[in-house]
Amino acid sequence: MERMPLPQSLISAFLWPVRIDILTVLPELFSSWFGESILERAQSKGLVEIKVHDLRQWSPDKHRKVDDYPFGGGAGMVMQVEPIHRAIEQLRAERDYDEVIYLSPDGLLLDQPLANNLSTKGNLILLCGHYKGVDERVREHLITMEVSIGNYVLTGGELAAAVLCDAVVRLVPGVIGDETSALSDSFQDGLVAPPDYTRPADYQGWKVPDVLLSGHQANIDAWRHQQALERTRQRRPGMIEAGEEGEGG
Ligand code: SAM
Repeated sequence: MERMPLPQSLISAFLWPVRIDILTVLPELFSSWFGESILERAQSKGLVEIKVHDLRQWSPDKHRKVDDYPFGGGAGMVMQVEPIHRAIEQLRAERDYDEVIYLSPDGLLLDQPLANNLSTKGNLILLCGHYKGVDERVREHLITMEVSIGNYVLTGGELAAAVLCDAVVRLVPGVIGDETSALSDSFQDGLVAPPDYTRPADYQGWKVPDVLLSGHQANIDAWRHQQALERTRQRRPGMIEAGEEGEGG
């Protein structure tokens, strides 16, 4: 089975921190996600810099409005091009960005290879839509990539941006405790993860497989690989087929 390339971030993050700028009308939503957990530790260690910006500060309107009625009629409001354009222009004047990403239900589906790929980038802008979404001219002229976290519609792009940040930032070396563990997660080698167990070895008759208690590392590794293959066949057969196609040429 063809193995996926390892995240380039393993190298690049030693050279510069990953910088992510998030444009949103609801900046306060991010404070608990980014103020705690792994994302907070990553920032305090200087491995990652995440800045959340209130899009309304770039509104030319005295009431800081950033949306308006859709041309042609219909329900819902549309986010206007001007505040978004001004925001992106200001950020771009301060540094270069590798991608300007709009979180969108019909964007590229976020999966592990895409997260790996984004973790190799130095600077990213994430634009969170709201209401009906953004004026199409934003997508035509300002966005370089559109990412979806699944084929369903959320109220706003904030949850999607937080999911994307988490998936990308955990790949940066030093962010999670055990360097190798992000690489042994599901999807990194074209397989889902094998089962994990911890103490006690016997909980009310529910036993941990003997091989894991054997101390024989080669047998443990072989068992884990077998389990991962079996699970992938059951749960994500498409991944096995894609791997076999890759091997065939
Ligand atoms: N009218 C849009 C449509 O039908 O595609 C949906 C707009 S949705 C209510 C508002 C915003 O939530 C979008 O602009 C986008 O930023 C975000 N959003 C919703 N679902 C998403 C998803 N699955 N992945 C990423 N972003 C999503």
